[in-house]
Parts: sequence; structure tokens; C-alpha cells
Amino acid sequence: MEKLEQLYEGKAKKVYRTSDDALYIVEYKDDATAFNGLKKGTIAGKGIINNKMSNMLMQILEKHGIPTHFVEEISDRETVVKKVKIVPLEVIIRNVSAGSFAKNYGVEEGIVFEEPTIEFSYKNDDLGDPLINSYHVIALKLAKKEEIDTIKKYAFKVNEVLKEYFKKMNIDLIDFKLEFGWLPDGTIVLADEISPDTCRFWDSTTKEKLDKDRFRRDLGGVEDAYQEVMRRLLGE
Ligand code: ADP
Ligand code: UDP
Repeated sequence: MEKLEQLYEGKAKKVYRTSDDALYIVEYKDDATAFNGLKKGTIAGKGIINNKMSNMLMQILEKHGIPTHFVEEISDRETVVKKVKIVPLEVIIRNVSAGSFAKNYGVEEGIVFEEPTIEFSYKNDDLGDPLINSYHVIALKLAKKEEIDTIKKYAFKVNEVLKEYFKKMNIDLIDFKLEFGWLPDGTIVLADEISPDTCRFWDSTTKEKLDKDRFRRDLGGVEDAYQEVMRRLLGE
């Protein structure tokens, strides 16, 4: 499988067409952004870690019955994925208060919820990815009711599987963002990535942050944190 022309360059990845009309190649970059692109930087080696980690996690999720876009890892930074039309939603699941939840609702970080929460943001950079509910999703014709139900079901299942998986590595899965897409036949699959860019990971014992918050908040040790999660995932 070879890369043909670049179709898109995002903040963290590039997307290429391939000779197979049903497949894309995504290439993971070391570029990092935060606060809707206001803060920019690079995290050395991040692209390699995120590529590998996302692929590992997607394969685990497939084993648990969640369909994903993953096809084949072809290099350190490149993966063949099924081409989808992205559902323009950021699907966010939270187990513990942090980030915008703590800020918006005026609570401290670290409150463990009795039940996980789900929220949707409308993926639209110009609007700043505003929070919307499932009625808004239907009103805006972003997805159908049954599709939202499927997305919710998959998102909570992803949470159950990953929470348990990370727990074994002494990592608390605090919150994360998922993106879904439609295959040409209309089937919904999990797409994009699952990595320290898109999840909050805290060491279960020390509560040390092992994710992109180290970059967002200038905490230092960003590269080490990404490597540490990868090291634990690989059982080293
Ligand atoms: P952003 O667009 O937010 O800057 P990225 O740099 O990660 O994000 O760019 C990757 C883009 O590719 C995102 O817009 C994402 O929605 C999209 N994408 C992810 N997986 C697929 C896929 N399987 N098919 C088509 N597009 C995808
Ligand atoms: N997230 C993401 N992309 C976004 C917004 C959020 O991957 O555009 C992830 C983020 O890494 C965190 C979770 O979604 O794991 C919840 O983020 P939150 O709403 O708290 O926003 P933030 O604090 O990042 O502004």
C-alpha cells in the first residue's frame, strides 16, 4: 500500500489517498496544539507513540466487538485505515472530573463519578467545537437518532474495556475523546486515534499526569510521560 496525494493536513496527522478507493493512510506527526490551536509546539517522538498506541488499543477494542477503522500499521508513523466520512462530533467520556468539566462546573479535578458521563462537541474549528446535546445533533442533521444511540453504546463500551485495561497498568483513565465515521455502506466505526493526545491518564498511585496536560499546562516531562504510558502498555 502506497501513499498517493495528501488529502488533508490536520494538527496532529496527515491523511493520504491510496490506490485502494476504500483505504487511506494516516501519518502521525510530532506537532502538538492546544486551546483550539492557540498553543503550538512539538513533542519529540509523539507521532510514533500515538500511532503504535492507537493501533494497539483499536485492535483490543475490535476483540471486544467494537468496529474500528484500523487496517494495518505500515511504519513507525503510518497506518492504513478504512476511509470513513467523519461524524462531525467529538464524543467525550469522563470517569473523573478534570479539564473543562472542572472549569465549567466549578469543581476540583479528581472527583470520581459514580457513573461515567458522555458529552458531544460539534467538530467545527470556526465555532470552537461548541458543546451540544443529542437533540441538537438531530436538529443540525449531524447524525440520526439510531446513529447517536450506536455511538453512545460504543463509547461506553470503549470506556469499560480501556478503563479495565489501563487499571492493570496502574493507570486511571480519567477522560477521553472519540471520533466515529461512516463506512460507505453507512456502518458506524470508531475512527481517528486513542492516545495521550486524546485521553487523560493519571498514575493510579501518585496521580501524576501522563498525557497532553503536561504540554497544555507546561508541566515539563511531556516526552517522558508519553513514553511511560507506552512502556506500561508494552509490559516493560
Ligand atoms: P484535526 O483535524 O483536529 O487537526 P488531526 O491532525 O488528527 O486532527 O487530523 C486527522 C483528521 O483525519 C481528522 O480530521 C480526523 O477526523 C480525520 N480522520 C481520522 N480517521 C479517519 C478515517 N478513517 N477516514 C477519514 N478521516 C479520518
Ligand atoms: N479532547 C481531545 N480533543 C479536543 C478536546 C478534548 O482529544 O479537541 C480530550 C482531552 O484530551 C481530554 C478529554 O477530551 O482527554 C476531555 O477534554 P476537556 O473537555 O476537559 O477539554 P480540555 O481540558 O482539553 O480543554
